[in-house]
Formats: sequence, C-alpha cells, structure tokens
Amino acid sequence: MYLYNSATHKKEEFKTHTPGRVEMYTCGPTVYHFAHIGNLRSYIMEDVLEKYLRYEGYNVKRVMNITDVGHLSSDGDTGEDKMLKGARREHKSVMDIAKFYTDAFFDDCRKLNIKTPDVVQPATGCIDEYIKIISRLVDTGYAYLAGGNVYFDSSKLKRYYIFNDHDEEDLAVGVREGVEEDSNKRNKNDFVLWFTKSKFEDQALKWDSPWGVGYPGWHIECSGISMKYNGEYLDLHCGGVDNAFPHHTNEIAQSESYLGHPWCPQWFHVHHLNDPAGKMSKSKGEFLTVSLLEEKGYDPLAYRWFCLQSHYRKTLVFSWENLDNAAAAYTKLLNRVAALKPEGDVDQAVFGEYREKFLQQVGNDLNTSMAVTAVFDALKAKTNDATKLAVIGEFDKVLSMSLLEKAAALREKAAQAVQTGGGDYVITGEGDPEIDAKVLARYEAKKAKNFAEADRIRDELKAQGIEVTDVKGGASWKRI
Ligand code: AMP
Ligand code: ZN
Repeated sequence: MYLYNSATHKKEEFKTHTPGRVEMYTCGPTVYHFAHIGNLRSYIMEDVLEKYLRYEGYNVKRVMNITDVGHLSSDGDTGEDKMLKGARREHKSVMDIAKFYTDAFFDDCRKLNIKTPDVVQPATGCIDEYIKIISRLVDTGYAYLAGGNVYFDSSKLKRYYIFNDHDEEDLAVGVREGVEEDSNKRNKNDFVLWFTKSKFEDQALKWDSPWGVGYPGWHIECSGISMKYNGEYLDLHCGGVDNAFPHHTNEIAQSESYLGHPWCPQWFHVHHLNDPAGKMSKSKGEFLTVSLLEEKGYDPLAYRWFCLQSHYRKTLVFSWENLDNAAAAYTKLLNRVAALKPEGDVDQAVFGEYREKFLQQVGNDLNTSMAVTAVFDALKAKTNDATKLAVIGEFDKVLSMSLLEKAAALREKAAQAVQTGGGDYVITGEGDPEIDAKVLARYEAKKAKNFAEADRIRDELKAQGIEVTDVKGGASWKRI
C-alpha cells in the first residue's frame, strides 16, 4: 500500500519493521465528555486503514490509550485538567466520568462499525511505565526538575521533530490566545513529563513518584502505552491532525531520547471535520454526537458513508444537507444490493478482477471515495448477481457498511410484506394495522379531494419513518 506519511510529507510505500506484521498505535479519546462526530471521523478512517491492512494480509496489532488523566485544556501544559473539568461539570468523581464516557465512546464505535482495538489501555493503568521512562530521561539529562515538575529539555535534541508546516512562531508551546507561559520551562518547546506542583488543589488522581506525589503529562502516556504493548519499534501511529503538534512531536522527542533509536517511521493524520461555523470542539458546549444523529432519525452508518465519500487528508465540512445526501445514497445503495438475487455461482475471474482494482484504489493512500465508486461499479458489472454480491461483500470487509446484512434484512422484510385491504385498494406493507389504517385514511382523503389532509397524513407517516409509495391499485409502505 502507498500511504501519505506526515513525517516525511510524502506518499510512500508502506513498510513494517517485521515483515507481515503491523504494530499500530492510535491516540484514544479524552473521556471527559461524549466524542463528537469530528473525533469519530478520525476513528472511522483509522478503522478503514486497519481493516485494509488486515485485508492485505498483515497481522495487525492495534493499541489505543484512553486519556483519563493529564490532558490539560491547552494541548500544551496549561489550563485546567479536562477530566477534572468533566467531573466538576457533572458533580461526579473523575473515575465515574472516565468510566461513563469510555463506555459511551465504545457504544458510538459499535454503532459506526468501528472495531475495538486489540489493546485498549486507560492512561491511569500504566503509571509505572511512565515513571520508568521519565527516570531514564532524567538520568540521561534529557529531562530536568523545575518548580516541582519534571520537564523534557527540547534543547538536548538535534532536531525537535516538526510534522506539518508549522513555522517557528507557531511552535511556542501553548502559544494560543489566553494561555499563560510556564516560567519553569528553560526552552519554549519544553514540556511536562510529570506534574507534582499542580495548580489544582483538588486534583483527584495522584501517584507517588521519585519526584513527589503527582501525575503524568499527557504526551508521556502514549509513549509509555505504545512501548509497553507495541514494543520498541512502532510501524504506524495515527491520530487527528491536531495531534501532530505538540502531542506527536513530543511523543517522538521523549520516545527516541529514551530508546536511543528511531521509534516510529510512519504517521497517519486524519484531517478535521468542521461545522460550517468552524472547528468542532467538545469544550464549546453543544456539539454533534452519534446520539443526536440517531435522535434525528439517521442511521449512524449514514455518517460513516458520509466520511468514506471524502479523502481523509481533506478537511470535511459537516452540514445536515450533506448528511441527508449521504443517507439517501446509502439507502438507495442498500435497496439496490437487496434487489440482487443471491443465486448462481460466483464468477471467480470477475471477482478477482474487482478485488484487485479495489486493493489498488484503496491502497493508494486510502482513497475511500474511489472505494465508494467501486461499490457502484460492481452493481453495474456485466456479471450475475451472485458475483456482484460476492464482490460487494468483499469490499465491505474494509468499508464496514453492513451492506450484505442490511440488504438481507430488507429482502426479508419485503418477503414478509403483508397485503391488507381489498377491493379497489390494496395496501402492501409490513403488517402493522395502525400504519395500514393511516395509509387507508390518506387514500380516503385523496378520494374526497381533501388533499391537505392527505398531505398531513403523509407527513405524519414520514415523521414516523414510513415511506408510502402509490402503486397501481393501492399503495405500498416500508420503514426507512
Ligand atoms: P480527544 O478526545 O480530544 O483527545 O480527541 C480524540 C481524537 O479526535 C484525536 O485523534 C483528535 O486528533 C481527533 N479530533 C479532534 N477534533 C477533531 C475533528 N474536528 N475532526 C477530526 N478529528 C478530530
Ligand atoms: Zn497520543
């Protein structure tokens, strides 16, 4: 596969330290609130990447942290602890907040067909790992104590790794409006490895360490957790593009200084989902969640489809209209797949040809929009339905859109369609007398030329998720 590597700013052939095996790490959520659908865009695209690598035959080990300590409001070392903020907001303990939002995160993932990584590790479970790394960094002169905290000394590096096209100005840590400088730092790019002097009196989680009672910085958790489970050589590190600096930059600095050799050669960054007003943010109060999409009647997979239609290295702008279009396209696709008859033999030559093309397209820097097109091309292929279904099922191993399952359910529903009424008006539906009655009432209203009433009933049915189609001699309805 060819993948854009944000460490080299180039599209490169994907390679691994151990042939056939991928050590993959993903920065997990900070569990002080629900994930917004922007966060989930990152996890959807990483999920497709993981599934594609598995599909290519790699043995993938995917590790993810859960940030339940140490992530301050700025991605530098200033501002309030996010977990504490969540706990205060909801009058609960930090641990309760972490548990609740971790569960909520995996619920959302399940609804979006995002596979749970092989290892999921809360940051609070690996304190010994961080202490081990920090101790060596202090011993070897890469870290220093100041004002009670332990800092990484970025001046000790030959090169403080820079991913994107940040210029020097932007690199002043925490240089965001309204964020104060930490006067303990010797250099502007230094960052905290261990806090003992917390400015939050009521910091809930604290551990003993050689430098006093305190808690780890945010960046050290990903290095510690990755090294614990992925070993000293990581092949692929993922995250949203906002993680590139300072988080990933600092992960590289501390990991390579600790290990004494290069750590992770390939970095995959997913660009943001923005709302038309700008960046989507959990701290903004109201934000878009999977539950909200469901409340509004969307299948969460319609959102996955929406994400797949765009390349992960392009900013994606969310709008209800765009989501509606994706949802309509997804429903249409499911209906077309449902219309295929699972009969006959699969034409292996055609199947192989489509599979090869798909591998090449998605293997070209995870071109998921081409993959979406490939599904429609398969529907139009000059072959039998059994082959089309086999091809679509194959693509779906990577896309995870539940295409075959949902199409089978639709087929089942259609088979169970019940006819009611009689005489001059036959209603074909799913056997729900209440809906049948409304459909009939609509017909009666139309017959009486009371079109306003007929439209009102149709809208009422629509709001219930029922689509009515007029057919010769009656109407048919289905749940959409
Ligand atoms: P957090 O829970 O804030 O630690 O973020 C979880 C993941 O979502 C990280 O990989 C972030 O880089 C990513 N992320 C944050 N905001 C967005 C966004 N608007 N669009 C896509 N990914 C995002
Ligand atoms: Zn991380």
